[in-house]
Amino acid sequence: EIKAMNGNGITKPNSKSSNIVEAVQTARDAFNRGVTRPIEWRRKQLNSLLRMYEENRNAMIEALHKDLRRSKMEAVLLEVDYLINDLKNTIHYLDEWSAPEKPPKGIVNILDKVVIYNDPYGVVLVVGAWNYPLQLLLLPMSGAIAAGNTVIVKPSELSVACAQFVAETIPKYLDNEAVIVVEGGPQETTELLKQKFDYIFFTGGTNIGKIVYEAATKNLTPVTLELGGKSPVYIDNTVDIFVTAKRILWGKFINVGQTCIAPDYVLCTKEVQDKFIEAAKKVLKEWYGDEPQKSPDLCRIINSRHFSRLQALVDASRDKIAIGGTYDANDRFIEPTVLSNVTGTDKIMQDEIFGPILPIVTIENAYEAIKFINEREHPLVLYVFSTQNNIQKLFTEQTRSGSINMNDTIMFYGVLYVFSTNDKVVSSLVDNTSSGGMCVNDTVMHMGVETLPFGGVGSSGIGAYHGKATFDTFTHKKSCLIKNFAAIGEKLASGRYPPYSESNLNF
Ligand code: NAD
Repeated sequence: EIKAMNGNGITKPNSKSSNIVEAVQTARDAFNRGVTRPIEWRRKQLNSLLRMYEENRNAMIEALHKDLRRSKMEAVLLEVDYLINDLKNTIHYLDEWSAPEKPPKGIVNILDKVVIYNDPYGVVLVVGAWNYPLQLLLLPMSGAIAAGNTVIVKPSELSVACAQFVAETIPKYLDNEAVIVVEGGPQETTELLKQKFDYIFFTGGTNIGKIVYEAATKNLTPVTLELGGKSPVYIDNTVDIFVTAKRILWGKFINVGQTCIAPDYVLCTKEVQDKFIEAAKKVLKEWYGDEPQKSPDLCRIINSRHFSRLQALVDASRDKIAIGGTYDANDRFIEPTVLSNVTGTDKIMQDEIFGPILPIVTIENAYEAIKFINEREHPLVLYVFSTQNNIQKLFTEQTRSGSINMNDTIMFYGVLYVFSTNDKVVSSLVDNTSSGGMCVNDTVMHMGVETLPFGGVGSSGIGAYHGKATFDTFTHKKSCLIKNFAAIGEKLASGRYPPYSESNLNF
């Protein structure tokens, strides 16, 4: 069923594609009328969106709880407050970001104006994923509004409560002709992708990302693609295994593994595997108690299809379960599970796991780990836990991944984390690796630096956002030379007109 909010914010439930055509046309007309261009209009919309977040904090927390049984802590930290802080920053800098830029100019243009205008693209499509259903949808949406675009937002149909929240709440706070929610799944998204957009921002799986990219080429529509992958972790015997276990398990079990940059599997020696499992047992008991199903801090699997997929993975790995391994279909609960002695041909190693199962593949040494990684698709993130500089260097130089992360796992992808006070090590990593971003001697805190763009490179995606980068993503830099008619300027440049005289050339 398609529910497109039309110009009056009225939900028109029917399954005709005409509704989608109408929604896009409404957004196109609004853009063409210039509704979204004035900064004051944008500011009003963004302030109203902020009011929406603040007045609906509990509703958002509840929707996340309904869809994913998200704890309040994770809901606030990873979505609600994250959105609020980003939006406050956008509102604060709106004038500065949108103002025309005046680049330096040469002597030839001394009498002219040389300006870069921050132009909206036009009509933007934002397609969200279900795993962080509010953040991944509303953050790009607010950036598109700030940059003066009209927006069609398509929440994931799988996070039902969040999609409903967005569809019901946005029309109450935002201009109904400029920001339109279209609900639906693959069929409706396919229909949407047949329309002409001026920018498409997609978050989701790599396969669907390719479909979106292909559809965008029809109209040469620029895209941002935030995609997924299978991110390995390498651990050696030089690390503090307790801290390492905590950092890996936290990255794995927030949102019960349904995170695009969750550590997917571990590579280590048998000796490290034993120590890791011992530490992991203690950590998990401390965090979730003897009956993890009763812990309020563990989310649930989004739906029964994903539950069955994960259940089959646990069942196929029965003889390799080191920790956990229970599940409850009625509750869509899968216990945090660690598998030992897994091999590259096991079922669990074929696709992105996207759930609370952490396989450990044992290897003899770092070279074998690198070979293992390089025989597979380029991962989104590579996590390395080692205090040996030569090992860190080996991994950064000899593997290909979207990014590398040293000695911690991360909430967001595309970052290289380095723990070192040795400037040579740091600069060697900066110079010899490719990643969306870097953070040295800390994790997560770089997220508070709103001046740092955030995104992947290569297989981790196309484009970057957050802070000003979000604004710039949805902005076309329109270069403009404004000449005047001063007689002297015309005289100085008159040599360009025919009949040409070679005496005007400098050689
Ligand atoms: P998905 O690709 O199945 O769905 C994403 C969106 O595409 C949804 O809105 C869905 O309705 C739509 N869609 C699904 N099938 C379609 C089709 N055939 N044609 C057109 N549209 C279609 O992804 P998901 O299951 O919602 O999310 C999980 C994936 O997203 C994982 O691979 C994860 O790694 C990735 N992800 C990446 C990031 C990031 O920032 N890089 C963040 C979250 C999730």
